[in-house]
Amino acid sequence: MSTPVHNDSTDTVKPSNFLRQIIEADLAQGTHARNRWAGSPGDAAHQGAGPADPAKIRTRFPPEPNGYLHVGHAKSICLNFGLARDYGGVCHLRFDDTNPEKEDQEYVDGIIDAVHWLGFDWKDPDGHENLYYASNYFGFMYRAAEYLIEAGHAYVDEQTPEEMRANRGDFGRPGVDSPYRSRTPAENLARFRDMKDGKLPDGAAVLRAKIDMASPNINLRDPAIYRIKHAEHHNTGNAWCIYPMYTFAHPVEDALECITHSICTLEFEDQRPFYDWLLDRLAEGGLIATPQPRQYEFARLNLTYVVTSKRKLKHLVDNGIVSGWDDPRMPTIVGLRRRGYTPESIQMFCERIGVTKDYSWIDYATLEGCLREDLEAKAHRAMVALDPLRLELTNWAEVFGSADHLEHCSLPALPHSHDGAHEGAPERRFTLGREVWIEREDFEEVPPKGYKRLFPGNRVRLKGGYVIECTGCEKDAEGRVAKVLATVVPDTKSGTPGADSVKVKAAITWVGVQDGLQAEVRLYDRLFTDAQPDAGGKDFLALLNPDSLKVVNAYVEPSLAAARPDGKFQFERFGYFVADRKDHAPGRPVFNRITGLKDSWGK
Ligand code: ATP
Ligand code: MG
Repeated sequence: MSTPVHNDSTDTVKPSNFLRQIIEADLAQGTHARNRWAGSPGDAAHQGAGPADPAKIRTRFPPEPNGYLHVGHAKSICLNFGLARDYGGVCHLRFDDTNPEKEDQEYVDGIIDAVHWLGFDWKDPDGHENLYYASNYFGFMYRAAEYLIEAGHAYVDEQTPEEMRANRGDFGRPGVDSPYRSRTPAENLARFRDMKDGKLPDGAAVLRAKIDMASPNINLRDPAIYRIKHAEHHNTGNAWCIYPMYTFAHPVEDALECITHSICTLEFEDQRPFYDWLLDRLAEGGLIATPQPRQYEFARLNLTYVVTSKRKLKHLVDNGIVSGWDDPRMPTIVGLRRRGYTPESIQMFCERIGVTKDYSWIDYATLEGCLREDLEAKAHRAMVALDPLRLELTNWAEVFGSADHLEHCSLPALPHSHDGAHEGAPERRFTLGREVWIEREDFEEVPPKGYKRLFPGNRVRLKGGYVIECTGCEKDAEGRVAKVLATVVPDTKSGTPGADSVKVKAAITWVGVQDGLQAEVRLYDRLFTDAQPDAGGKDFLALLNPDSLKVVNAYVEPSLAAARPDGKFQFERFGYFVADRKDHAPGRPVFNRITGLKDSWGK
């Protein structure tokens, strides 16, 4: 067992996990103590000429720039960058752009932003930035492929895709050797160069590793490592018409970057034997620095009520089901950010769920709990009326001498805690006049049993203001309550000696009609009605929640005039809200509900 790591950056002791134990064992044994790093990715000769690697470990986060990152990627980011930070290492940001189609600069920029926003960077101790593009390694990959051919470890197969599939066998049946498997290295090299020179059409041939057609692991039955694709690449243009397969490219990328611990999700567990086979061959040939990287797998994040597949998320965007990748209902990092999630809350979430090798679903409430925990002490409080109902204090002029009289009121921006943690926190100021907005649900003409708020004859306190007594209501033509009538009880103002002279059972939130601000409030809810919307072959599109967004015109207290885009608040009794980073503007406030005050999932 290893000891928990003390991490200075957050001053918390982190629980151990199997990856931390592997890294700690490697550090204790000096597995990478003699690694060299020339300051940039490269082959064995390049790295061998460099100084000792100042990074104790190297990890990487290798997204394919074909979409925006989601909360699942956040787990991988926090894991890879977090381990590097905790163990004196470096984590590379590598764009896995070896697939010529589907990739886009917009996504590259979005990924860089997302990782930075989450609180990480990719600098060496000397400040050098470790941001790489796998497509820059095509030259080396080609050389590695020629080496494998020359060493008898690869051959060009010209079977049709159907023949190849049939001859691969299956779990119960070994594969059958391709008739091209016995070509000589010289024949293979010539044919591979034909592939590279564009002499063959797409699909006419592939380069395959020559391993074992009878292997119980189907991934070792001579996997394809290069294919023909006459397609333009965003970085290399038309320089290549053959492209490496992911399973070949990925280990090579890791090796060129001197990655020590290559951490991926469990789907790649069956690929590990090929990962090791390939790097062993390239190390034997002296092409890559040693010791070579090792792959470790962990269970991907599955979060209830969301889908975490770029393809499915793209479908929601492309079909206008959501307003974009940054729609506040999206589990993308830009969506979570716009919804009001903080980097701290997402990091806390990733720490809390930990890493294991067991398949499981994490409850969405866990993520919300982290947000509440982060904002509880930070978010200024505010009163709002989300479903506003006018209330008139009919004796106002009589008590204060004028119908226009205003009483100045204040409440602390953060609740006063016993340890005085918030002492000196700012006060929110607002005024009470003859008319206020209250929450519609705070009045009942005929109160249900146990109801403590406004009903004729009952007294409540307007929070931070006066005790009032309800006298009745006015209705509109449809019979709906249009205005509540009440009287103010003199000498009961909060914070004055008379405040406690009248006991009430409830204090209600309110906003002054004369100084309240009109605001658009977007009440977001889960995007899907099913906890596992895309599990077990379910059609996630049939499980969309029709009520995932409700927009209301609210009144909010005047302190919120100072809200800036991204500013976060606790609206008393309703939960945490954020000023929308796109649409909020002074004079036109727009707030998003991040989450309620209590867990409402599964209810
Ligand atoms: P998607 O299926 O959504 O396209 P992906 O795995 O294909 O996801 P990549 O860009 O290839 O997307 O992923 C980059 C890294 O993020 C990979 O190392 C991958 O293992 C990791 N990752 C992706 N989804 C998750 C998840 N749900 N939980 C943890 N890690 C994830
Ligand atoms: Mg992918």
